[in-house]
Amino acid sequence: MRYGEENPDVLLMFSSHYCRNHSHGPYPPGFGRHGVCAHENKELAKAREALPLIEDSSNCDIVKATQYGIFERCKELVEAGYDVRQPDKENVSLLHWAAINNRLDLVKFYISKGAVVDQLGGDLNSTPLHWAIRQGHLPMVILLLQYGADPALIDGEGFCGIHLAVLFQHMPIIAYLISKGQSVNTIDVNGQTPLMLSANKVLGPEPTGFLLKFNPSLNIVDKIHQNTPLHWAVAAGNVNAVDKLLEAGSSLDVRNVKGETPLDMALQNKNRLIIHMLKTEAKTRANKNFRLWRWLQKCEVFLLLLLSVITMWAVGYILDFDSDSWLLKGFLLIILFFLTSLFPRFLLGYKSLIYLPTVFLLSSIFWMFMTWFILFFPDVAGTPLYFVFIISIAAFLYFFYKTWTTDPGFTKASEEEKKMSIITLAETGCLDFRTFCTSCLIRKPLRSLHCHVCNSCVARYDQHCMWTGRCIGFGNHHYYIFFLFFLSIVCDWFIYESFIYWSNHCTTTFKEDGLWTYLNQAVTCSPWVMYIFVLASFHFSWSAFLLINQLFQIAFLGLTSYERTSLLKQSKHMKQTLSLRRTPYNLGFTQNLADFFQCGCFGLVKPCAVDWTSQYTMVFHPAKEKVLRSV
Ligand SMILES: [Zn+2]
Ligand SMILES: [Zn+2]
Repeated sequence: MRYGEENPDVLLMFSSHYCRNHSHGPYPPGFGRHGVCAHENKELAKAREALPLIEDSSNCDIVKATQYGIFERCKELVEAGYDVRQPDKENVSLLHWAAINNRLDLVKFYISKGAVVDQLGGDLNSTPLHWAIRQGHLPMVILLLQYGADPALIDGEGFCGIHLAVLFQHMPIIAYLISKGQSVNTIDVNGQTPLMLSANKVLGPEPTGFLLKFNPSLNIVDKIHQNTPLHWAVAAGNVNAVDKLLEAGSSLDVRNVKGETPLDMALQNKNRLIIHMLKTEAKTRANKNFRLWRWLQKCEVFLLLLLSVITMWAVGYILDFDSDSWLLKGFLLIILFFLTSLFPRFLLGYKSLIYLPTVFLLSSIFWMFMTWFILFFPDVAGTPLYFVFIISIAAFLYFFYKTWTTDPGFTKASEEEKKMSIITLAETGCLDFRTFCTSCLIRKPLRSLHCHVCNSCVARYDQHCMWTGRCIGFGNHHYYIFFLFFLSIVCDWFIYESFIYWSNHCTTTFKEDGLWTYLNQAVTCSPWVMYIFVLASFHFSWSAFLLINQLFQIAFLGLTSYERTSLLKQSKHMKQTLSLRRTPYNLGFTQNLADFFQCGCFGLVKPCAVDWTSQYTMVFHPAKEKVLRSV
């Protein structure tokens, strides 16, 4: 159940500027006295604009020099005897000013001169770390933690570092703090966890969805109201957070201090959408207690296939029906489609409908085989044709099975590996959405992409194929090519044998009667054969098209479908024309094919084995002495 798409801001949080240790403009005195306020950033921005630029840096005081990052001036004043621990008249230390303005060199300098890293200051009694977190300066957070800053300290409002990162929606800092050992269930002074704060205070799917990836406790309650995160989301009317929490499995039955469940709360608030969501979820969960329901869920693809086979037969039966009235047949077909559309609604649920093209393809193949076996086989029994058709069907089924069951290259990482990768990326200044997947919390391998249907990153991603119902990636791409090849062969044979059938059983020939009469006669002769013939032609056309397209991409471009389309999209925005053939992955016709199929053609070519599931950097290709890099 998804009511809204992921917030694109999440990605922006990881955008490239985190790859640099940048400094923002100086923050004037006064920061730190505000509570959590939506307009705070605007006010700060205004105040910052109002601050005049310093013309003569040699005379400014040390606070101003720190805000502006004038290292030489600060050094001069400290060496002249200024005590770095001395707070200014606002009770703010120099380290605070350096931290909020992301002055990394000044922080190092002040600490070397004896500044206290966890000095409390400002109206909110915060540490420099709190200030850096509020402002979203990940490099500063990393530096302060290296100097021993304590992220568990609470500020004047009762929040630890992680709570502030959640309230100000700084996802990289949340990820970094948790990876460095801060518990995702850390409580603030009111006993609220980051998840409760996020569900209650930050409208929208993030950072609730992001926090849920770190397996927080869903049914923990706060000290005062004894609300769970779901209660808090309902109280705030935060529809996206409610959706995410229900999807994660939050309990619907926990009662708070007033004895209210989340549903009672929603009824009180008269939020109709949330009431509907909670009731639907309760119904789905109640259904799960029935064995029959669980069984239906398990076999949903098989049931859908069965339904599709029966529907396809029924369509053929109606078409083949001994009546000249096409109006009656049309009416019967409409009733049939109406009846079949009810099944997924009551029996299977709409989730399984993504497999509809797959079951359509498989049931088409089933009826093609049955038609061939019952109607065509007697005609071709003595010839080698029957043998070829059976072999093609068997090969098609084998490669379909292999494409379906082989892991396309889903990235797998343990909790510990994920945390290590977050720390490494953050500390090298590269916690960046180009290198880091915010959904899987892993470093993305080169050429991989996150598939939203499979909810995982896929190595050397090609596409999520609707016909196989599976992702096509590094692991199963070659099986997919054979799947397309044998599918087009099967359809091809069927089309050919349909013509043989018509020439044997219908009193018409193409040469004598012309195309139109011939087709008319063929339909009247056997509507069923024409029906399956149309299906075979349809499947032949798309499979042959995709096969040619895939082979062209693999052999001549060395690219995947995704890379090709994204390059084409990019080239639209470029002034000069972009050649798809001149990419680092194109190593020439034979080498491309040899690499793709991992086949040396009896020693003629040397295939280069690159494991795209764990390839993060450029590859040096020994065969062609070319450097591969990300497209
Ligand atoms: Zn991913
Ligand atoms: Zn997928």
